[in-house]
Amino acid sequence: MTTAAGGQPVAETDVLVVGSGPAGAAAALFLASYGTRTLMVTKYSRLSDSPRAHITNQRTMETMRDMGIEDALMREATPWELMGNTTFCTSLAGEELGRIPSWGTDTVRHADYELQSPCTMLDAPQTVTEPILVKAAQERGARIRFDTEYLSHTQDEDGVTTMVRDRLTGAEYAIRSQYLIGADGARSKVADDLGLPFEGPGAVAGAMNIIIEADLSRFVAHRPSVLYWMLQPGAEREGVGLGVLRMIKPWHEWMLMWGYEVAVGPPTFTDEFIRELAVTLVGTGDFEMTVKSASPWTVNHQFATTIARGRVFCAGDAVHRHPPTNGLGSNTSIQDSYNLAWKIAHVVAGTAAPSLLASYDAERAPVARQIVERANQSIVDTGKILTALDLTDTTDVTRLERQLALRKEPGPEGEKIRAALREAIAYKAYEFDAHGVEHNHRYASSAVLPDGTAMPGFRRDPELYAQPTTWPGAKLPHTWVTRHGRRLSTLDLAGQGRFAVVTGIGGQPWLDAAAELAAALEMTITPVLIGPGQPVEDPYGTWAGLRETDDGGVLLVRPDLYVAARHQAAPASAAAAREWLAGALSSVLGRPVAAGRPA
Ligand SMILES: Cc1cc2nc3c(=O)[nH]c(=O)nc-3n(C[C@H](O)[C@H](O)[C@H](O)COP(=O)(O)OP(=O)(O)OC[C@H]3O[C@@H](n4cnc5c(N)ncnc54)[C@H](O)[C@@H]3O)c2cc1C
Repeated sequence: MTTAAGGQPVAETDVLVVGSGPAGAAAALFLASYGTRTLMVTKYSRLSDSPRAHITNQRTMETMRDMGIEDALMREATPWELMGNTTFCTSLAGEELGRIPSWGTDTVRHADYELQSPCTMLDAPQTVTEPILVKAAQERGARIRFDTEYLSHTQDEDGVTTMVRDRLTGAEYAIRSQYLIGADGARSKVADDLGLPFEGPGAVAGAMNIIIEADLSRFVAHRPSVLYWMLQPGAEREGVGLGVLRMIKPWHEWMLMWGYEVAVGPPTFTDEFIRELAVTLVGTGDFEMTVKSASPWTVNHQFATTIARGRVFCAGDAVHRHPPTNGLGSNTSIQDSYNLAWKIAHVVAGTAAPSLLASYDAERAPVARQIVERANQSIVDTGKILTALDLTDTTDVTRLERQLALRKEPGPEGEKIRAALREAIAYKAYEFDAHGVEHNHRYASSAVLPDGTAMPGFRRDPELYAQPTTWPGAKLPHTWVTRHGRRLSTLDLAGQGRFAVVTGIGGQPWLDAAAELAAALEMTITPVLIGPGQPVEDPYGTWAGLRETDDGGVLLVRPDLYVAARHQAAPASAAAAREWLAGALSSVLGRPVAAGRPA
């Protein structure tokens, strides 16, 4: 620590991260893993004490795999096979209206998911994820300060000065960094201080999360799921569209979700209120329970249209605020940080120009908009279940019961309800199986070099189905290849903070060029040669089917496993390979890269 002019102590770091939620903890982990000096400060004395976000999608798990902590998370999470069977019912003990196989657990959809990624989906509440991320970040050198509150920041040409308060002593001090990441959640002061422009309303509905311990195995173990949705009188008002019982630990820890009117304010969480709600959702009072916590929150529909200014970047809920529908909250937050961290790491290391950092806003601001719209639309879509039952207001209990009874009656009215209900529940695939939303990003920015081809059109619904492509700006497709006979994913061939050059037989000049240019740039570029008799083989032939290049063509893959540039065919000569690769690297890194052989 040094001292500023006024005698005030100044801590120094390359990157200051504010917040230890999924966005901040992941940013600290990625940066520390890349060898960037990182300090993470967080306001409270602990990590999240509430399970909140939980659905962990394959793309997030790919980032964890890249960091070498996929297994740690899998050990503590609820596994994929217990996540399906999203159930719509009147209560756990009551009438079941239907189920939708979710998160790729359906027989047909499972293949789509398995083809897309080496990773599984899993259910990992924030209380599980955050400690794993933070421990790994710390082990890799990130400095972490609890009880440290962000107060303000100013930036100048050379860096950012951030004022923080030590909440134990009240002492305020400055932290000087090259870059600042505001991962301080939905009430982000960093985003506020930056004056980021937001679109969409906050607090469109009230909701409450109540955590209870109760063994509900006998109601659910035969239809394992993360979510059970309850059609109850008044359940569609506010909240997330219906009442919800969410599994936290199978099958004895639960989150109860219910709405409240924002204008009226949240209820008082008395023991009686909570017990009554729990009994309503479970559908019987014949169970023991202990209340762990209760808190109100609001459904937001807000995203920032600009997510960074100068040396300050915001990630996570700081720039996208939306309901938990689709389970995109922490996933998107972690993926924001994965997109940002390698860019900052390269700029701090001097291997990329600061102009690379502008690509964070260009690539991730559209994602913020997309997921906020998607998550809110999913609440609207739940309304189709009511429409199917020809209901507009479930508080008319007589009508609600009549319509539910009609569903079991012979005759055209009952038949119509049954068909409409089946359709409405199947439509919820846009919430529970939106595999395309999770994987189909196509980045357009300075960190992607177009190859002149048009983006391949989507063959199936782009929200539901992931479609791999090597089109520059898309994620490197996954498939299984082998090294020394052992199976590994194509995603395992790249990442770890480095660019990779991926080619096949006839593409050796690309690798020679990569080695020369890497030496000149003082960075590492991972060489990957896939083909018979090569270090990596494609015995199933699936890589050849996915790569969309000739054998000797090449992909320049970014550290976040996105394709930065692509060349269709083998190079005409060693010089041509050097020239193309130098041009691609120069374009992506934003700095001159000489194509000629170093003297
Ligand atoms: C009650 C509730 C329930 C939710 N349920 C779900 C769910 O079921 N599923 C789902 O996908 N998503 C859910 N979410 C959303 C999900 O939790 C978020 O999307 C996710 O946590 C975002 O991660 P983040 O790191 O951006 O922010 P957060 O997890 O909110 O983390 C913000 C961090 O910043 C710190 N911080 C804040 N201000 C300061 C400051 N001034 N100085 C220093 N540190 C500061 C906080 O201490 C915290 O560590 C829920 C959110 C809430 C509030």
